[in-house]
Amino acid sequence: MQVQVRLERVRQLSSSTKDFRFVRVDGEPITFLPGQFFRFVFTDQTGEFERSYSLCNFESDCLHGEFLDLVISTVEGGRASKLLFDAEPGLEATVTGPFGRLVLPKKLPERLFLIATSVGIAPYMPMLDALRDSLQQGDVEVYFLYGTRDAGEFVYGQVLSAFAEQYKNFHLMVCYSRIEHGDASIVSHPNVTVRFGYVQNNMAVLKMNPVTDHVLLCGNPMMIDDLYPQLKQQGFGVRQVVREKYVFAKRPGIKKPAVQMTAEQKRLLAEKMKKYS
Ligand SMILES: Cc1cc2nc3c(=O)[nH]c(=O)nc-3n(C[C@H](O)[C@H](O)[C@H](O)COP(=O)(O)OP(=O)(O)OC[C@H]3O[C@@H](n4cnc5c(N)ncnc54)[C@H](O)[C@@H]3O)c2cc1C
Repeated sequence: MQVQVRLERVRQLSSSTKDFRFVRVDGEPITFLPGQFFRFVFTDQTGEFERSYSLCNFESDCLHGEFLDLVISTVEGGRASKLLFDAEPGLEATVTGPFGRLVLPKKLPERLFLIATSVGIAPYMPMLDALRDSLQQGDVEVYFLYGTRDAGEFVYGQVLSAFAEQYKNFHLMVCYSRIEHGDASIVSHPNVTVRFGYVQNNMAVLKMNPVTDHVLLCGNPMMIDDLYPQLKQQGFGVRQVVREKYVFAKRPGIKKPAVQMTAEQKRLLAEKMKKYS
């Protein structure tokens, strides 16, 4: 699907983060699975460029309509950040998608772990509605683990806290990476377990089990690269752990440096060349 979209609304969520509502210009509904992302082609003074964003549609008026809701944190010196954080309603973009494997499994496990850092929370927000029936029937325990800098950056804290109030089998844990343990100024929400440090360093209490658990990881590549080996050690594999890293787009014109060969690799290559010459 390739469509034209127009920016309709912008809201400031925290000092670094805003949410953006785009609407399909032709008024047709957007089809996607909760968790998927779209590629946006924007135009600035230098020309066209592409960035990926997960859909964060979760408000009841936008679950099945023509809206694309994004939650974006600004990146210093970032091209899309500059364009979007200065943008007024009316900004247009071309969008293709949906893409991505970070979706709910067809058959829900006993325990589902949704783990995110920062705006990696985006793909999980549309999943909340999709999980309601299973949570209501007690078919699944959901663990929503969110790593963020501090309480001011706990975006959608109220929405998640209300959801946890409604479903006792929805467990919400937030890890503040920049708050010292015991800081009395922490403001949080009801039904939230607060921890300190990186989310990947707060997993031991959960006693994860590859037989009963399914894990989705999204956001900062460092969190994912730290956590995945921990899970592998506990017996998890690619079938139980789906990863989506929010990597930066490649800079145009910058090529990866050539891979340096070891002396042994050079010797083997020389041998092969000799054989075929
Ligand atoms: C599948 C997917 C989904 C995503 N979903 C979201 C989302 O929902 N919300 C969200 O906020 N973000 C999301 N992202 C990230 C998003 O696509 C952009 O990368 C992000 O918004 C930054 O874009 P930018 O143009 O502002 O920054 P860029 O212009 O890309 O630059 C970012 C900064 O990093 C530097 N930089 C750029 N490339 C390199 C490089 N190769 N090496 C070293 N430094 C570099 C630049 O100088 C700049 O300071 C997603 C990414 C992926 C892959």
